[in-house]
Amino acid sequence: MLKQILFSLSLLMTLGIFAYSFKRYYLFFKLTKPFEVKDFGKRFNIMMNVAFGQKKILRKPVVGLIHALVFWGFLVITLGSIEMVIDGLFGTERILSFLGGFYSFIVASGDIMAAFIALAMLIFLYRRISGKVKRFDGIEMTHKSHTDANIALSIILFLMISLLGMNTFYVAEKLSSGEAILGVYPVSQQLATLVSSMDYSSLHIGHEINWWAHILLIFFFANYLPYSKHFHVYSSIPNVLFSRLEPLGQLYNMESISKEVKLMMDPNAAFADPPEEEEAEIEKFGVKDIEDVNWKNYLDSLACTQCGRCTDVCPANITGKKLSPRKIVMNVRSRMDEKGPGLIKNGSEFDDGKSLLGDYISAEELWACTTCNACAQECPVNINQPSMIIDMRRYLVMEESAAPAELNTVFQNIENNGAPWQYSQDDRMKWAEDLFTNA
Ligand code: SF4
Ligand code: SF4
Repeated sequence: MLKQILFSLSLLMTLGIFAYSFKRYYLFFKLTKPFEVKDFGKRFNIMMNVAFGQKKILRKPVVGLIHALVFWGFLVITLGSIEMVIDGLFGTERILSFLGGFYSFIVASGDIMAAFIALAMLIFLYRRISGKVKRFDGIEMTHKSHTDANIALSIILFLMISLLGMNTFYVAEKLSSGEAILGVYPVSQQLATLVSSMDYSSLHIGHEINWWAHILLIFFFANYLPYSKHFHVYSSIPNVLFSRLEPLGQLYNMESISKEVKLMMDPNAAFADPPEEEEAEIEKFGVKDIEDVNWKNYLDSLACTQCGRCTDVCPANITGKKLSPRKIVMNVRSRMDEKGPGLIKNGSEFDDGKSLLGDYISAEELWACTTCNACAQECPVNINQPSMIIDMRRYLVMEESAAPAELNTVFQNIENNGAPWQYSQDDRMKWAEDLFTNA
C-alpha cells in the first residue's frame, strides 16, 4: 500500500509539472501567426514514412540504422512503461501478462532493445565527446547545447540500465522462489545468472530498487524534455505530420501581395477606392521578431534535434559564409523562450528592446542563403529552414528597403521595365532584329 501511495504522489507531481510545461508552450503557440494545413491523407503517409519509417535517417546506412533502431526500440519500451504505471497505481505485478504470446513478444523485444539502446547511447556519447563528428560543432553549438545533449543521452543510458536491472532481478527473484516468470527476457535471463547466488530478499530489494529507479527516471525525463534539445522526442512526429506538401523551393505567396498584383493586372480595380476595412488594416510584411513567425515555424524550432545535417550540406556554410540553417532554427526557439513570457504577461505591445532579426540573426546570414533547399531536403524531421529565411528577407526588403544594392537594381528594373533587366519593354526583341532580317 505504501508503494502505491508513494507512486501515486510521484505520478501526480509529474503530471502537475508536465501540465505546467504544456500550458507554457500552449501560450507560446498562441503568440504565433496562423498557418493553414490541409490534406491530412497525404500528411499521414508522410508521417508514416518519415517519422515512423525513419526514411530520411536511413539514408545513412550505419548511423541511420542505429538511430532508427533506437526510435523503434523506444516505441516498444513505452508499452512496458505503461504497464509499470498501471502496476504502480494498483499494486499489481506485470498486469499485461494476460496478453499471452503478444506480451511475451513485446517484453522480449523491449529487453533486447534496452541492451541495444544502452550500447547505442555509449556510441552516441563517444561520438559527441570525442569531437570527431564535425557537424556537432558550430557557432550555435554552445557549451550549454553540448551539455544538454550529453545529459539527455546519459539519462537514456541509465533508463536502459535500470530497465535491464529490473528485468534481471525479476527473473532471478522468480527463479529463486520457484514462481512462474511472466514474459520472456532473452538478455536479462542471461544476466540473471550473474546474481543468482544472492538470497531471495536481496533479489527482491534489487528488483524494487531498479523498478523505482526506472520509473522515477521516466518521470524526470518526461519533464526534462520540454526544456531540452531532446524535446523533439515529443514534437518531431507532429512536425513531420504538418510538414510542407509543396515541392521544395516553391515559395509561399503573401496573400496581400498576390492581391496587389492581381489589382495591378486589372486596371479598373487598380484605381478603385479600397473597401473601408482594408484601408484601416496596416499589415506588417515578413518576420522581424518572434510574434511574426507562424505556428509551424515555431513547431519546427521545437522539433529540431540539433543534428547539424542541414548545416553540413549548406553551400553557404561550406564556402565559409556566416549562415548556418541550424542556427536560424535554434534562434527561433531561443527568442521565444526569451520574449514569450514578457508577451504573455504584458500583451502584444511588450518590447524588450531586442528582436529576432538583428539581435539573433543578421542580414548577412540571411542574404548568404542561395535558397537551394538542401537543408530542408536533408532534415530528418522535415523542418523548413528556407521559409524562415525568406520571411525575414521579406521584412528587410518590404519594411526596411534594406536589400543588398545588387537586388535594389533588379527591383527597380522590375518596377520600371516589368523584367529584371535594364531595358525597356519596347527594346526587348531588339536582340532578334538581325535574325529576322537574315531569315
Ligand atoms: S536553402 Fe539556404 S540555408 Fe538551406 S542549404 Fe541552401 S543556402 Fe543553406
Ligand atoms: S534543422 Fe533539421 S537537419 Fe538541421 S539541425 Fe535541426 S533537425 Fe537537424
